[in-house]
Amino acid sequence: MSRAMIRVSPPMVKQAPQRSTGRGRRSLTLLPPAGGPQIVRARGGEVDALLIAMPETATPASLRELPESLRWRDLLARERPRAGSVRTTSLANRRQTLAVLGFLKTDASSFERLALAGRMMKEAAARGPRTIGLATAGFPADSRGRAAAQASLEALLAGALTQAFALPSCREPSAEERHITRVQIPADAPLDLQYAAISAEGTNLARWLTALPPNILDSRGYRTAVSQLARRHGLQMTWLGEQALRRAGANAFLAVAAGNESPVAGIAHLRYRPGRRRVASPDLALIGKGILFDTGGVNLKPHRSMLDMHTDMGGSAVALATLIALAQLRAPVAADAWLAITENRIGPQAYRPQEVVRAANGVTIQVIHTDAEGRMVLADTLALAARTRPRLMLDFATLTGACVYSLTERMSGVFTNRPKLAPFLLEAGRQSGERVWTFPFDADFDSDLESKVADVLQCTTEGKGDHILAARFLSRFVPEDIPWAHVDLSSATRSGGLGHVNTDVTGFGVRYALQLIMKEDILRAVEHLK
Ligand SMILES: [Zn+2]
Repeated sequence: MSRAMIRVSPPMVKQAPQRSTGRGRRSLTLLPPAGGPQIVRARGGEVDALLIAMPETATPASLRELPESLRWRDLLARERPRAGSVRTTSLANRRQTLAVLGFLKTDASSFERLALAGRMMKEAAARGPRTIGLATAGFPADSRGRAAAQASLEALLAGALTQAFALPSCREPSAEERHITRVQIPADAPLDLQYAAISAEGTNLARWLTALPPNILDSRGYRTAVSQLARRHGLQMTWLGEQALRRAGANAFLAVAAGNESPVAGIAHLRYRPGRRRVASPDLALIGKGILFDTGGVNLKPHRSMLDMHTDMGGSAVALATLIALAQLRAPVAADAWLAITENRIGPQAYRPQEVVRAANGVTIQVIHTDAEGRMVLADTLALAARTRPRLMLDFATLTGACVYSLTERMSGVFTNRPKLAPFLLEAGRQSGERVWTFPFDADFDSDLESKVADVLQCTTEGKGDHILAARFLSRFVPEDIPWAHVDLSSATRSGGLGHVNTDVTGFGVRYALQLIMKEDILRAVEHLK
């Protein structure tokens, strides 16, 4: 199939639908309100809350620089602080500034720094501060101490920008509800504020989209949201609707979409080109699972398992938000995003177990369980993305319960068809604080997916090692000569939040992907594979 055949006319987009939410008072917009809190470099000046990260070994003498240092010394003198603990007090100034002190090991991990920042933000949020100040104190003056102080301040800033962002809500705000509008950091702090702000904005966009109710972010709504974002950020967009996908032979995707009431599903293909340069093949293809609501299909989920399934599009939100962040950073990377957007519902046309479908690359699949829809839509999306011959393919999907059983929601799983990329994938997790763990990708697992009637089984009936088998299944749709990594997003949601994010929807993956692409330079590593 030629590229021209899957091109369809641009979607007709007018404006974000302002749907009635029932009570007719506040309605939800598809996209978050523009603009976050102001970040200012300043010394002094009163703030509502002052958050200070310090090493657990800080001596009372090292608190001299803090306002009302005697108060702090008292606080420290009473009991030695433990790493990870938080103490609060009020300053005697006009605003009665809430002071929140957090303690760390000097060699704390990025995750530990973010988690402390999250706890400190939670303490501060109880007071509803509008202005907050961030600082560090008591770190040794050597290079290790300076690096630790800088990393701690970066974590506090990430926490503040996350805390300042309000998730979608139709609730009437209470009179005393306030949001952070100003974040003050030390004038001489060696932080890349642009990177920090863009990275946080990406995480927040992924959180927003993932948290939207499924009647607002339905297929039409998502397509509208993606189109608006594409226009705003100068990305080219092609919408592959069901007709185009039929021509492309994307029957695995269409099997899942068959349960929808009307043909509204599709794959959004977005392109970012640095300096608007034309390239034959992109450096990077980001692929995301965008199941807007997963009922499980004919193999219907029970109540508790279905409840939060509006978040099953989290992978697509991560791919989208990462591409936008790359564009905002003007990253020197020609990147595409491919978002597989549909619901997984029951209905007269819904696909059934034992159907055999042929995916876009010709591989036939024996359907076993309709709730394994993620790998079905990804199969075709990976196959279509591969036709553009990217140097690296990276997909994000809330794919398997098995990954959650293996790692809990604290980390996500990664798989790659190039073992040499594993150290880079792991290091990006350590450095970004969005931690991942690798799983085996050995070919002998394939014998579990042997089918008598098709090239491959969709999954097994048992569910043993399903995260590994799902990755092996997906590899059937990625050409062997294209380096590929798959992130099973077990951390997309976690009760009580994760790291610096204090809401159940974490936006996990954007910070990770930016670290991998911009800092660990995964594309250079890919080059060296040859
Ligand atoms: Zn499912």
